[in-house]
Amino acid sequence: MVGGESQKKRVVVVGGGVAGALLAKKMQFDVDVLLIDPKEYFEIPWTRLRSMVEPSFAERTLIKHTDYLTNGRVVTSRAISITESEVFTEDGQKIIYDYLALATGYADPTPRSRKDRLEQFQQDNDKIKSSSSILIIGGGRMGVELAGEIATDYPEKNVTLIHKGPRLLEYIGPKASNKALKLLKSKRVEVLLEQSVDLDSITEGERVFTTSAGKSITAGCHFVCVGRPSGSTWLQETFLKESLDKSGRLMVDENLRVKGRSNIFAIGDITDIREIKLGYLAQKHAAVVAKNLKLLTKEGRESKLATYKPSSAIMVMVALGRKQGVAQLPFMTIGGRLPAMIKSKDLFVGWIRKEMGLDHRAV
Ligand SMILES: Cc1cc2nc3c(=O)[nH]c(=O)nc-3n(C[C@H](O)[C@H](O)[C@H](O)COP(=O)(O)OP(=O)(O)OC[C@H]3O[C@@H](n4cnc5c(N)ncnc54)[C@H](O)[C@@H]3O)c2cc1C
Repeated sequence: MVGGESQKKRVVVVGGGVAGALLAKKMQFDVDVLLIDPKEYFEIPWTRLRSMVEPSFAERTLIKHTDYLTNGRVVTSRAISITESEVFTEDGQKIIYDYLALATGYADPTPRSRKDRLEQFQQDNDKIKSSSSILIIGGGRMGVELAGEIATDYPEKNVTLIHKGPRLLEYIGPKASNKALKLLKSKRVEVLLEQSVDLDSITEGERVFTTSAGKSITAGCHFVCVGRPSGSTWLQETFLKESLDKSGRLMVDENLRVKGRSNIFAIGDITDIREIKLGYLAQKHAAVVAKNLKLLTKEGRESKLATYKPSSAIMVMVALGRKQGVAQLPFMTIGGRLPAMIKSKDLFVGWIRKEMGLDHRAV
């Protein structure tokens, strides 16, 4: 059993992504903090597409949890169930908590060890390098950013992006979608909208793909960028099932506590907060909950709890390779080199590393 002996309050953070990693880091000197994550590292999620075209980029974007959590504990396993005072993990541990923070945004199946994740990027890169034509399935932010990265670094390759919806990047406005489409086309990416490929029919080593419109695409390799698995399915058989909304998101109050629960918080993409799901907002959630946990664990002061107001002026950046991008700002949408100067060059890696108290300089 882990988490039994301490004088300090036991705070368990489940999910070591953008929100959970930062929260654990912020709490580590105030409480007995324990982080549960199936990976031994925190990965800056939007950098994976760059790491596929430049595997060495991942050296700065895969950060071992123990590098920033120097005064906390890490359990490298998946949480599979909870009660009102315990978390159970896949590797058979029972972890007791006084306060719980749920931050399991998405459950992408990535390798447990940092070394294997680096190796996976190398393998993806080998696939890209050895194929003269590449098919990307899914025109959401992953598929679009991957198409931009490949078309920028390997302009000689034929890249096809297929998306079943009527426009790319459906989570943002049509103006930004159109700008992304234009920029991809200017990079010679063939974009097929309102078409799909039956994923179940694809076999290992497949080279010819038939779309729902009957078009035949030949590609040396393909990448599936659709439907990331939700990080809340493990809660469906627990006492928190009533706290999940229809989309499987945890309903939270203004203090970011799970509705009706005094000692359970939720942050990041797993919450039902009405705003676009973004990492910099997940970090704001973490800051509010860190404040609240400090108040509750030290002074027990309910009345002073900080509140979170969903942002109305949201900024969304889409990188299309190193030198171009699209930015949807509160009052306008821009495409081209200016957004690239903000996001695409370093993909906010320096900023995130600084937040985590690590060396932020590019090497
Ligand atoms: C291509 C792309 C581009 C993006 N670009 C931007 C951008 O430019 N700016 C921006 O602000 N945001 C961007 N985002 C969004 C951003 O990545 C997310 O909003 C952010 O990652 C949410 O953080 P999170 O901590 O809630 O979830 P995640 O970062 O998804 O972390 C979830 C963590 O929970 C863990 N987990 C899952 N299930 C379990 C379990 N059962 N037990 C234990 N651990 C579990 C996972 O392993 C993971 O570590 C982008 C996303 C994508 C995909």
